[in-house]
Amino acid sequence: MINLEVPRKLTTLVDQARQAAVAFLRPNSRKYDQAEHTYPKELDTLAALLDGLSESGGGAGAGGVRRAKAKRDGVVNGANLRLALGTMEMCWGDAGLLLSMPRQGLGNAAIASVADESQMARYKGKWAAMAITEPDTGSDSGAIRTTAVRDGDHYVLNGEKIFVTSGERADCVVVWATLDRTKGKAAIKSFVVDRDTPGFELVRLEHKLGIRASDTAHFRLDNVRVPAENLLGDPEISQGFAGVMQTFDNTRPLVAAMAVGIARAALEETRRLLTEAGIQIDYDHPPNTQPAAAAAFIEMEATYEAMYLLTLQAAWMADNGQPNSLQASYAKAKAGRGATEITLRCVELCGSVGYAEHELLEKWSRDAKIMDIFEGTQQIQQLIIARRLLGKTSAQLK
Ligand SMILES: Cc1cc2nc3c(=O)[nH]c(=O)nc-3n(C[C@H](O)[C@H](O)[C@H](O)COP(=O)(O)OP(=O)(O)OC[C@H]3O[C@@H](n4cnc5c(N)ncnc54)[C@H](O)[C@@H]3O)c2cc1C
Repeated sequence: MINLEVPRKLTTLVDQARQAAVAFLRPNSRKYDQAEHTYPKELDTLAALLDGLSESGGGAGAGGVRRAKAKRDGVVNGANLRLALGTMEMCWGDAGLLLSMPRQGLGNAAIASVADESQMARYKGKWAAMAITEPDTGSDSGAIRTTAVRDGDHYVLNGEKIFVTSGERADCVVVWATLDRTKGKAAIKSFVVDRDTPGFELVRLEHKLGIRASDTAHFRLDNVRVPAENLLGDPEISQGFAGVMQTFDNTRPLVAAMAVGIARAALEETRRLLTEAGIQIDYDHPPNTQPAAAAAFIEMEATYEAMYLLTLQAAWMADNGQPNSLQASYAKAKAGRGATEITLRCVELCGSVGYAEHELLEKWSRDAKIMDIFEGTQQIQQLIIARRLLGKTSAQLK
């Protein structure tokens, strides 16, 4: 029998994450949507709490994401599933604030995914952002232009990075750079760059449609000297692009989980408003026999379930050492688009109440859109899925 309930050992974590979302995130949601670029100081207490949980092995922190090395007997509900479930709850509270949580950046997930044990120890307790995107390349991450040139026991980095989530607030940034542009994707490596390294200049912060609590930074790298041991993964060019790309297998399910959390928040609020308006949602009768709003709600819930289950599947596979690139893209594509559609439909169903600022529905519809853009857009996920299903390489299907 398939049991789709949350495993019992994870229910405490889900409860704790929900409590944190109720106590810290939801009450500050509107405040930091309006006060863009202001550091949400309320998060310090919560971050300390998360650190404590991570220390005890029960936390949902991004640093906890670690790819299972080998297949084991039986099944494992590990760090990836834990983090996905915690992320859903926290984003029910506020996605922008979750992205602003100290020491829980996407860079932390990247470090946890590919760092060796000594690097893991070195970056313990650090807040790491992730910098792939450049002015001339976003989706085509294999075409980045930032260079890294070996100079003794250092690499010297030059280039420009844009749209770096938590870039201003983090302690360090995981920067993608190429060792040799003539060697293509295989030469791309990731480097941990401390924020205070000379030449690593913050150019500006972006103003955005949604997730305004989260800072989004633009950097210039001008002869930034990085110790050679800050290179994550294998320094050999022959080891290819797979090392850096592996990060996405762990982070895409997390972005999907964020989308699930926002969609759930919108659905719960819409159900409340519909009920107040006297519209009953009846699961015992077909949707086409019910008021249009109830039928639309049931349809959205079906999409929500698919988003949720695909996300859990992708995270669970990572915990169990199973290749999950396809499932990570399924989850990201379904949840990114689903959350965008659901939140906008909720605004529509609730009319002026949905559109006005005294409810959070309008905000969730703005916050949801990024889930279908960063960590690979909708179109890029579909491209990856098509390549995998058709057995095509990236050169054959662009
Ligand atoms: C708020 C925010 C936070 C971000 N945070 C980070 C971060 O922390 N680190 C980071 O590195 N980046 C970050 N990004 C950047 C994000 O990952 C990129 O915006 C995204 O990858 C898309 O790249 P692009 O914006 O250059 O769009 P483009 O790649 O120029 O794409 C434009 C459009 O063309 C489509 N498209 C592109 N190629 C194809 C193709 N082959 N087939 C079909 N359609 C295609 C895309 O899907 C998109 O719709 C962030 C962006 C935002 C807005």
